[in-house]
Amino acid sequence: PHWEKQIRSSAQIHRSHGLSVLVTGAAGFVGSHVALALKKRGDGVVGVDNFNDYYDPSLKNARRALLASHNVFIVQGDINDERVLAKLFDVVAFTHVMHLAAQAGVRYAMENPHSYVDSNIAGLVTLLEQCKSADPQPAVVWASSSSVYGLNDKAPFSESDRTDRPASLYAATKKAGEAITHTYNHIYGLSITGLRFFTVYGPWGRPDMAYFSFTQDIRHGKPITIFRGKNRVDLARDFTYIDDIVKGCVAALDTSGKSTGSGGKKRAAAPYRIYNLGNTAPVTVPTMVGLLERYLNKKAKRHVVSMPGNGDVPFTHANISLAQRELGYKPMTDLSTGLRKFVDWYESYYVDDHGKSVNY
Ligand code: NAD
Repeated sequence: PHWEKQIRSSAQIHRSHGLSVLVTGAAGFVGSHVALALKKRGDGVVGVDNFNDYYDPSLKNARRALLASHNVFIVQGDINDERVLAKLFDVVAFTHVMHLAAQAGVRYAMENPHSYVDSNIAGLVTLLEQCKSADPQPAVVWASSSSVYGLNDKAPFSESDRTDRPASLYAATKKAGEAITHTYNHIYGLSITGLRFFTVYGPWGRPDMAYFSFTQDIRHGKPITIFRGKNRVDLARDFTYIDDIVKGCVAALDTSGKSTGSGGKKRAAAPYRIYNLGNTAPVTVPTMVGLLERYLNKKAKRHVVSMPGNGDVPFTHANISLAQRELGYKPMTDLSTGLRKFVDWYESYYVDDHGKSVNY
């Protein structure tokens, strides 16, 4: 294909100890940040993304341009297309796969359930089939989600807590992904690390998420709808800043493939690991809106309604001691600092020098 030459140069590793990473979902929010971070420290990086139109495709194209300016090339293709994956693995001997492609969002699952099955289940299996038979076998690090904790009411959530009550089809497909990756780990010896992200936010974020769409609506003077849980309790999220998530992803890549076992004579089995990547400091949605009002210097037109039962959970809260211990993960950015950075980015991306909206 026409992209073969470009991905060879994209995958080129300048340092002998660098990784060679396939980043799926590289035109996405988290994927573009992780791809850039890896490239900046000298790893070889190739992206793949189907550039679907779940949210504004022009934002994905802008992320693609940003990566291209750092010589990271994104192949336009679907992880559920085995020919594309076979070609990628044929051209580059990936040491690692950072799997971030997915149909995200909990509410959209009610409109388009099959897109979740196609990307998060069928696409995952197609990717793992490729990884299992690749030589060398890449270590796989992939994004699960805090949503697997579903309707648990005991907080904070630990990795060993129950995950059998998903509140949305999205959560169910992530839970299925954990079972599927586990199978590939014990049958085929693939090294697997699943990362349960907790509400990731920041510059180049996802316009379908509340902090982002509220920013747009407050700025344009439109009313925002805030959901409230049972007994008029505010929803709360363990908002986690993108730079912290990126550090967790990179640490997971760097420690993947290494056994955490005792190192006896018997060859250690490939690891299967799951970590929470959160912030351990939940904030209510109205408080988050208050911070946006401050940074946008504008009052929100708040419209508070009862949660309609569309897949949202009342709260999330991560226990991160396992990631702290094994990955050295330590979130550094509180919501107030992180939202300030988000709003700064928003203003630079969506507002011109005369205060007029652009790219909107
Ligand atoms: P995103 O939608 O911005 O990124 C996902 C990217 O994958 C998109 O660019 C999309 O075009 C691409 N994609 C989707 N299906 C594909 C397919 N079949 N083939 C190829 N590309 C495909 O989402 P994000 O916020 O960057 O999320 C990254 C990962 O983290 C996802 O797996 C998501 O479920 C997970 N996650 C995100 C959050 C969060 O708060 N952002 C929280 C928990 C888990």
